[in-house]
Amino acid sequence: MTVKAEGFGTLDKALTDIMNSYFDDDEEEDWTAPVEWESRRREVSYLVCCEQGHETVRTYGGDPGLVVWVQCETCGAIYQARIPGKYRGRKVRQSTQRKRDAIFDIFAESGPTMTVRQVYYALAVRRFVPKTHDGYRQAGYQLTALRRLEIMPYGWIADNTRWQIKPTTYTGLESAMQIWHDAYRRDLWARQGVHVEVWVEKDALAGVIAPVTRRYDVPLFVARGFSSMTFAYDAAEAIKEIGKPTYIYHFGDFDPSGVSAALTLKEELGRHGARAQFRRMAVTRDQVEAMDLPTLAVNRKDPRAGTWQHPYVCELDALPVKELRSLVESSIVQHIDHAQLEQTRKAESIEKTTFDEMRRYFVQERNNGDVMRAAL
Ligand SMILES: [Zn+2]
Repeated sequence: MTVKAEGFGTLDKALTDIMNSYFDDDEEEDWTAPVEWESRRREVSYLVCCEQGHETVRTYGGDPGLVVWVQCETCGAIYQARIPGKYRGRKVRQSTQRKRDAIFDIFAESGPTMTVRQVYYALAVRRFVPKTHDGYRQAGYQLTALRRLEIMPYGWIADNTRWQIKPTTYTGLESAMQIWHDAYRRDLWARQGVHVEVWVEKDALAGVIAPVTRRYDVPLFVARGFSSMTFAYDAAEAIKEIGKPTYIYHFGDFDPSGVSAALTLKEELGRHGARAQFRRMAVTRDQVEAMDLPTLAVNRKDPRAGTWQHPYVCELDALPVKELRSLVESSIVQHIDHAQLEQTRKAESIEKTTFDEMRRYFVQERNNGDVMRAAL
């Protein structure tokens, strides 16, 4: 038998033949077809315990034998727990382990959530990474690795990019009532004489501040400097509508753009006729000096650098998380009438009980068949 080498007259013909045979043999792939994909990840839930004996469920799908980080669901304590089984993964270099231990300590001290940049600054201050771009890269790399290995829960790093647009829906009246009951909060400010807002320049840091503003039922806005003329207009309209003495606390970088953006926002509010006390809470030069915060060189490319009177700039992320949160808290708390707050909380608790009784009454009546099926 002879095997003849495949020959094409010309390159052109060869290409045409190849093309034709390609389409002859293979079915064209349909890129719009849905992809069936099954994860092989096996997630196991472990019951772990903090020092005070509170139990927390920690789900985990990583390597056996690893020591993972946990936040107690009851007291908020940060601790480590070993997943059962023998560790068969790669050995971790000592220098890497030291960095990871330092990251754990930072979280144990401040609690989640933090931004990558905040962790980087905290590591740089403790001299675990250099205060350079490479140091930032190292911090980012470790935080990615720690989350991929599932040592650190994903939610510990804030990025505030998850958005969904969907109407609120319920599976039925009973579950809706449960959700309303759990979510019900009485407006803490309705009976306070003033209105307070917190504005932050950076998206990601909003996630860090939100636990505090949420606790005190204070609106938190991300005010991104110069791009937000509409933002300032909307804010002004809202403040006029509320009609109470208003206090705005602004948190942003200590740099030419950050500071002048804050001033612009303040001017815009005035331009639209809103009367509000506007105060830049952080970062200030006094804070940099009092806390010896890590600084950066002034970026001379910044068009506003010419008027900058200071020898350095400092990012809001450089402020330790604890300081940041306590600044937010003290800004708010000074305006609260505590007797009034106490009354509001009492009313809220009574209303929640009432609501719960309504829910139970509804369930009971439905079981008795007195509520029309159609209503469900
Ligand atoms: Zn606990």
